[in-house]
Amino acid sequence: APAVQMGALQPGRLTGRIRPQLSKEKIEGCHICTLVTPGEPQVLLGKDKAFTYDFVFDLDTWQEQVYSTCVSRLVEGCFEGYNATVLAYGQTGAGKTYTMGTGFDVAMAEEEQGIIPRAIAHLFGGIAERKRRAREQGVAGPEFKVSAQFLELYNEEILDLFDSARDPDARHRRSNIKIHEDANGGIYTTGVTSRLVSSQEELIQCLKQGALSRTTASTQMNVQSSRSHAIFTIHVCQMRLCTRPDLVNEAVTGLPDGTAPSGEYETLTAKFHFVDLAGSERLKRTGATGERAKEGISINCGLLALGNVISALGDQSKKVVHVPYRDSKLTRLLQDSLGGNSQTIMIACVSPSDRDFMETLNTLKYANRARNI
Ligand code: ADP
Ligand code: MG
Repeated sequence: APAVQMGALQPGRLTGRIRPQLSKEKIEGCHICTLVTPGEPQVLLGKDKAFTYDFVFDLDTWQEQVYSTCVSRLVEGCFEGYNATVLAYGQTGAGKTYTMGTGFDVAMAEEEQGIIPRAIAHLFGGIAERKRRAREQGVAGPEFKVSAQFLELYNEEILDLFDSARDPDARHRRSNIKIHEDANGGIYTTGVTSRLVSSQEELIQCLKQGALSRTTASTQMNVQSSRSHAIFTIHVCQMRLCTRPDLVNEAVTGLPDGTAPSGEYETLTAKFHFVDLAGSERLKRTGATGERAKEGISINCGLLALGNVISALGDQSKKVVHVPYRDSKLTRLLQDSLGGNSQTIMIACVSPSDRDFMETLNTLKYANRARNI
């Protein structure tokens, strides 16, 4: 990809989203303690706490608006070879899964679809559009290879949600998945199932299956999926007529379909990570002990490391030379997708209800670290 710095400093990277009150909260008489300043991307919490982000979505915001404002341009970037990452952060019940769109309630209306299904539709729409344009111009069309992986990080163990043979007990065994770094600093994994897909429907099907596998396994093991990070990754490989001769990949001798190129071709690759992070709630409140406490510690380790990495990347003084990617599996896996040629956004999801005040405050503060230091 072109050497443009688009890392964690990219504007638009920090978003706050307040979900509506749930009926349970209304029935139990919870009050709303969040307020969005009209015309400004600012959340007011309680009487005297204000947080300003790049975008703030109040409790009546449609899924479509979140997508078109924050995520759409990242998919466009993938067509130009930029990696992208969307992180959903917040306490359990704050709307991370709803926002990402892996909930898949059968009764869910189309307009309630979250980010991932929309990005998938956008991606395949963009592919069809580019092929159509090439046909109209009578030139060789671009070729695309789209594949996906779906991982879950639990207790610093990496689990494969596409591995159908996976035993739910795998949560208690070591997986043989490994994270590697290539000579160019690219991160890749071995031992992970990669699904090659050729249509929107096929990819949605994979997503659904993986999301189901996640909830089934957690039910069987009597653990909450809110304690793990879920990372859905789409790899896009594109071979197209070269728009910039200086970027011609000389190793290219033929198109993926086996035909020989008639002009000069370039190969662009991009990966898009969608990360539904573990619940950020503090352990004290759930009174965790023993096994739960251990889980809590390593989950916090991922979230803590992520916060530190994003802070380091966002340090405009450039005083920070060491970015602590290796402090957790999560940050190691996302290493090449958080800085450099990558566009990253974090969506801080919060509840509007006063009973969640402290967790909302913690979430808004955490996200604030990802802003400028
Ligand atoms: P999390 O993944 O952070 O634990 P969920 O996404 O499961 O939270 O959301 C908790 C509940 O709130 C779910 O019932 C979900 O449908 C609902 N919810 C979350 N965000 C919204 C929203 N923006 N609009 C309507 N319902 C929402
Ligand atoms: Mg969730």
